[in-house]
Amino acid sequence: MRDYDIEDAFAAIEEELIASMLRNMKRHHVEEIAEDKQWAMWQAMQLESLERYKKANQKKFGSRFSDINSRIGEVIREASKHGYMDQETEILKAVQSGFLGYRRMPDTMQAEFFKLNERKLETLIRAVEHDMEKAETAILRRADDQYRKAIFNAQVYANTGAGTYEKAVDMATRDMLSAGLKCVVYANGAMHTLQDYADMALRTASKRAYLQGEGLKRQEWGITTVIVNKRGNPCPKCLPFCGKILIDDVWSGGSKDGISPVTGLKYPLISSAISAGLYHPRCKDSHTTYFEGISTPPDSKYTRKELDQIAEDYRNEQKIQHAKQQVDKYDRLVKHSLDEEDKRRYRGKAIEWRKVLKKLTDKNFSLLLKGMDNTIKERSKEFYRSLLNVEDDDIYQLLQQSYKRVQFKASKKRRSYFSQKDGVVYLVEKADQSTIAHELFHEIDRTYGITKSGMLKKELSSDYARLQSMSDGKFIQDVLYSKYPDMFDESVEGFVVKQEYRGISDIIHGLTGGKVNLGYRHSMEYWRIPGNLQKEAWAQYGRMYYSGDERVLSVLMELLPETTREFERIIKAVMK
Ligand SMILES: [Zn+2]
Ligand SMILES: [Zn+2]
Repeated sequence: MRDYDIEDAFAAIEEELIASMLRNMKRHHVEEIAEDKQWAMWQAMQLESLERYKKANQKKFGSRFSDINSRIGEVIREASKHGYMDQETEILKAVQSGFLGYRRMPDTMQAEFFKLNERKLETLIRAVEHDMEKAETAILRRADDQYRKAIFNAQVYANTGAGTYEKAVDMATRDMLSAGLKCVVYANGAMHTLQDYADMALRTASKRAYLQGEGLKRQEWGITTVIVNKRGNPCPKCLPFCGKILIDDVWSGGSKDGISPVTGLKYPLISSAISAGLYHPRCKDSHTTYFEGISTPPDSKYTRKELDQIAEDYRNEQKIQHAKQQVDKYDRLVKHSLDEEDKRRYRGKAIEWRKVLKKLTDKNFSLLLKGMDNTIKERSKEFYRSLLNVEDDDIYQLLQQSYKRVQFKASKKRRSYFSQKDGVVYLVEKADQSTIAHELFHEIDRTYGITKSGMLKKELSSDYARLQSMSDGKFIQDVLYSKYPDMFDESVEGFVVKQEYRGISDIIHGLTGGKVNLGYRHSMEYWRIPGNLQKEAWAQYGRMYYSGDERVLSVLMELLPETTREFERIIKAVMK
């Protein structure tokens, strides 16, 4: 579970709380809104509903909250583990390129340090869980209060000339629908919704945990110098520290005098930077290890132009956030208002704000791409970690080496691809890990000149001939369906294979020159280019061997035995 899944879970709960409140209001109607007696009866009835609403919510959401809370700990522990692992990779790389400024901690001390770190992490998790529990109680209480307020205000609005019952209720619930169920008060007095708060709290805690994990690894190696990354769009509060070398006295055990044990140079402390604003809530800045003598000396200066751009980007980002909030607000009002005319008016507003949002994001395309590059970085890191689960050692080695040769960038096209020209893997934002493996196999193909030298061609065509004789005049898809029903997705019309079989689908599409389409494919023109079938087959094999799904691999072996054996042979030959 990711942080944003948790945020979504809270958003869904808020939505349900509001929807069921409004359903109660819609169900019981006041016919004559000028009559106090009818309102008195209505209020009594609504107050009863409120009691039931309260009880039902306690029961219904109590267990959902505890479910979410248990996952919060998971997310934070993961972040710390990732920090620890990423830092190990970084340090080993620096050592490989000749870094000597480390002093490894004796093994006997490491266990002690590990325990200390665990305790710190558990304290952090408990604190976040405790705060979340408080916020969860608060949203239920807030929903009750808002319901009660609406029950009393509806009549007030009816008396001041709302016109209809529906309009009176819409007026009474308008503030709540506009703002959402704001239930958490920040230190500056501002109110926030549960999902806003969860987002902030979780991001902050995960970041701390990540930095702590990294710090633990640095402590093992006795490295304490870090550098705050200089980015294109730093937060204003962090700007003064970007590109600066600091001694990490918070997570990496750096000395409080700020003196590097390696060079004797004095640097500012990270603890002072934090008290001056670095790593504020929702901060997107970060630091990496500064390997004295190895890392490039910092460039902490921003030009006037860069500074102006940063300020402009920041203002734009704020405007985008505001427009997004407006869209959400009017969507909520459209959805939950009772009166048709109100709904229409709000719908118009929602459309207007969507237009504003689109204009802003278009204008800010460069900023979005910057943001996306971060996602790509995350994706590629996640992929690197996933390699640990690859069972086949040769595939693991090949992918790992290829990973180190390529660069990852955001794709501006609709699909991910490997560019033969510049050796870059371009990824769309939603690219899954098997797709990254697929693209890396294209790179491996290029590096070793595999399909270029005609490999796989013979095997593919003889497997195809076999497939044709096997289907004996019948449609290949019918034969496949009767032989491997599990391969197909029941929920989809026609012959569409499940996601994990997408590699097989693409190869068959290519083999049949585009005649057999099982849902995942390239374009017909693409297959007409000589060599593309072998190239794609190779990369699809790479995807499937990376995923290592036994069912998929056994279908592959049965359908394309010669190609499969040849693929395995090439892998072994390359790795020798
Ligand atoms: Zn920041
Ligand atoms: Zn491909």
